[in-house]
Amino acid sequence: MTKLSDRMYVLAESETLAMSKKSAELKAQGLDIINLSIGEPDFNTPDVIKTGAKKAIDDNFTHYTPVAGYKDLREAIAKKLKRENNLDYAFDQIVVSTGAKHSIANTMLCLVNPGEEVIVPSPYWVSYREIVKLAEGKSVFIKTSLENDFKITAKQLEAAITPKTKLMIFSSPSNPTGFIYTKEELKAIAEVVAKHENLYIISDEIYEHINYVGKHESIAQFDFIKDRVILVNGVSKGYAMTGWRIGYVAAPKWVAQGIEKLQGQFTSGTCSIAQRAALTALTGDQSAVGEMREKFRKRRDLVVNLIKEIPTIKTNTPQGAFYVFADFSHYFGKSDGTTKIKDANDLTFWLLEKAQVAMVSGDAFGDPNCIRLSYATSDELLVKAIQRIKEALGKLK
Ligand code: PMP
Ligand code: GLU
Repeated sequence: MTKLSDRMYVLAESETLAMSKKSAELKAQGLDIINLSIGEPDFNTPDVIKTGAKKAIDDNFTHYTPVAGYKDLREAIAKKLKRENNLDYAFDQIVVSTGAKHSIANTMLCLVNPGEEVIVPSPYWVSYREIVKLAEGKSVFIKTSLENDFKITAKQLEAAITPKTKLMIFSSPSNPTGFIYTKEELKAIAEVVAKHENLYIISDEIYEHINYVGKHESIAQFDFIKDRVILVNGVSKGYAMTGWRIGYVAAPKWVAQGIEKLQGQFTSGTCSIAQRAALTALTGDQSAVGEMREKFRKRRDLVVNLIKEIPTIKTNTPQGAFYVFADFSHYFGKSDGTTKIKDANDLTFWLLEKAQVAMVSGDAFGDPNCIRLSYATSDELLVKAIQRIKEALGKLK
């Protein structure tokens, strides 16, 4: 009998990656699918970073790397955190891993005991929920709504805390919603955290550089809780380096040491060439980051304006990342004469078939009224995709 471990039956497949895979399969069959499912910049990695990687190969950065990452890369990350975020971290508080996803999984496995609770504001990024399961923790979701730009309040956080709460995890700018917590909102959350000495926060800041409303605010800036914040970031989104797989944590030293120990038994230090490329990215000319952000901003405006022409779809204007998370519930219960749409899952699959546009059902992120669209693709494809969605939706009565 072939049987996977019990944990594999509880673990769900990543729905963002599953939808992207499905879209690639349909494209390979010759269908003209527009893929707005995956959240990754369509830009190529800037040339200067690629040159850094090529040089690393020639310079023989081909051996095992220190488990926590090259020292000069960890120092460059500490400098970045000072330069861009005014945060003080020593290099030994930083651990480099195989993408921000890996940094999150490491942290969760290091901090959460079986049965402990992890507070997850909902909608949330798909992998948070599953990583909590792998750590045998229990997700406690805090529901938010479009009216409040999908943000939790300090009061909601206070109400969700129990003696079993160990962690809270959130992203700002947020995947899937695109909204950003203000400094005041973060401070109010930090004040609640301060009252509960066993509560830690994973602050996922991977979309830091894709922010259209101002400067990035990290919850680690509040000194009275900084020793309970595990800041997660990386180079995937801001530098268009998703395939290089470099993420990191900046954390209290004992957490960093725990992560290093775990990583030493699991993956070892991450790829040498990718680390040198990340070092080039963080220490070199930063202009590409701003240029990509401005392109994303134009696309955000384009997509939101087109969606607002469809009054049955409810959405606010997102402030960062590259997603629109919109409420399509108007169409639930409607039919094209053959298929009746029950929920966002049905509608996402129906739109994939009828409009040939791949998106991700809000259900994957904890909000069954919504669908997530990634606008990290060309203007031309975005215009075409929204036109197709509009035409298809017109058939539902
Ligand atoms: N956090 C969020 C909110 C994300 O959207 C992503 C994107 N995959 C990650 C973490 C993981 O980033 P990485 O590709 O560096 O693993
Ligand atoms: N973060 C991206 C997304 O949400 C990439 C896919 C993934 O790792 O989930 O689409």
